[in-house]
Amino acid sequence: MATRTSSAPTSAPSTEAPTPGRIWNFSAGPAVLPEPVLRQAQEDLWSIRGSGIGIAEHSHRGKIYETVNAEAEAACRELAGIPSSHKVLFLQGGASLQFAMVPFNLLPAGRTADYIVTGVWSQKAIKEAKAIGQVHQAFDGAGEEFRRIPSADEIRYSADPAYIHLTTNNTIYGTQWRSEPPVPAGAPLVADTSSDMFSRPIDVSKYGLIYAGAQKNLGPSGVVLLIIREDLLDRVPASVPSILQYKTHAKEKSLYNTPNTFGVYLMGEVLKWIRSGGGLDAMARRNAEKARLLYDVIDSTDFWRGTAEAGSRSIMNVCFRAASEELEKAFCAEATAAGLDGLKGHRATGGMRASIYNACPLGAVEALAAFMRDFEQRKG
Ligand SMILES: *Cc1c(COP(=O)(O)O)cnc(C)c1O
Repeated sequence: MATRTSSAPTSAPSTEAPTPGRIWNFSAGPAVLPEPVLRQAQEDLWSIRGSGIGIAEHSHRGKIYETVNAEAEAACRELAGIPSSHKVLFLQGGASLQFAMVPFNLLPAGRTADYIVTGVWSQKAIKEAKAIGQVHQAFDGAGEEFRRIPSADEIRYSADPAYIHLTTNNTIYGTQWRSEPPVPAGAPLVADTSSDMFSRPIDVSKYGLIYAGAQKNLGPSGVVLLIIREDLLDRVPASVPSILQYKTHAKEKSLYNTPNTFGVYLMGEVLKWIRSGGGLDAMARRNAEKARLLYDVIDSTDFWRGTAEAGSRSIMNVCFRAASEELEKAFCAEATAAGLDGLKGHRATGGMRASIYNACPLGAVEALAAFMRDFEQRKG
């Protein structure tokens, strides 16, 4: 964080202050976590459930961790109403390992996998799949700088795809699917939901596989939540190493090797926090309200320019630009000095990005909206 400079605004309108010792954090990931969860984790790191041993010190084969693991899975199943046809796994290696594990498991020789490419993360996913098998790019948004999500009639599937891969929220470009596109009958839909998992209701029965790195909406980095339809477990060719087979992890209930025990614990606490806050419907309402506050500021004058097409805008990552890079630099520096951190856009796009995931409080977004209005009045 930059130190306070003389150019810091002194007249910013007053909004709710963050909890003492904390600042407003708009980082794209790892990202802000719910404060009640952090408080609980502080205690549980010392000693969890009266055991005299901290959560990071318990054996993954012991009773305490068994309960932690089971509670995390139960909260996950309950939140999304996950049908019994689908397994829930907690894996490691980030979402990026899934770019390779998905084709290793679901793309046998002689078949083709279809990828809908709507951003850098989908590009990385298709690149890994190409190294493993045959792929077909069903849509490519690169020519339009990934400003939008395609309509159904722009997607061209191959004849009999082994699966269809999409990225539900494009973290870097601030675009998000409103609903699943139609897919050919029998082709499993595979989704990277890393940056919008559990930000709104999700109908798991529509998917063959869902994966999400936890560090945006669900917990710390180093854990991946993966949901897979059971019948897909057996597609994997025998030549794939066992640690890369979903089957292995499903059979061992995510305990094939030592899991990220602390990460699964923290994710479980975040899921319980979502549940106690009213579940996914309540999350979706809050997230839509937060996003609207920022898009309203962006749309209210010509000073700001939203980079995503209006119909494709994300409620998780709000990307916007000002008239010049100089102004954008000044904005980010002054925002940081005012205690609003992490607003610099991704290096691939420039500009600004406010990541306002589940755990980002309404107060933070109100403070940012007020700061943007103030900045505009001073510089516009
Ligand atoms: C952050 C992100 C990733 C990469 O996650 P890692 O855990 O760093 O591998 C992949 N996909 C999406 C959509 C992301 O937002």
